[in-house]
Amino acid sequence: MKKIEHIGIAVKDLDASNEIFATLFGKQHYKIEAVESEGVKTSFFKLGPNKIELLQATSKDSPIAKFIEKKGEGVHHIAFAVSNIENEIERLKKEGFKLIHEVPKKGADNKRIAFLHPKSTNGVLIELCEEIKH
Ligand code: ZN
Repeated sequence: MKKIEHIGIAVKDLDASNEIFATLFGKQHYKIEAVESEGVKTSFFKLGPNKIELLQATSKDSPIAKFIEKKGEGVHHIAFAVSNIENEIERLKKEGFKLIHEVPKKGADNKRIAFLHPKSTNGVLIELCEEIKH
């Protein structure tokens, strides 16, 4: 793994949270993007080399809806940049980690992503992400 790519925060109301975080950071988000397959709408803020992703559920079955129901709003996941996501998935499987996605899927912000199961990482939901190169 190369570095922390972003930290994901689950929110109930993306518009309201965009305002809160824009005030906090002193700058606006640089994109809003829906990820249909995950049932989420996201926004991204850039702070130097780091990014913050806000996630709002767009359906009741969304993992974000379930997370907020159980734990309330707050830090949802930490995403790490990897250069080859297939290799990283294979490596982590061999090391005994449980993956939610064994095959990478299309994520927000031009990424291929896979989540690890938090049961194998001390309760922390970890996202692997590989930048899609054009
Ligand atoms: Zn993320």
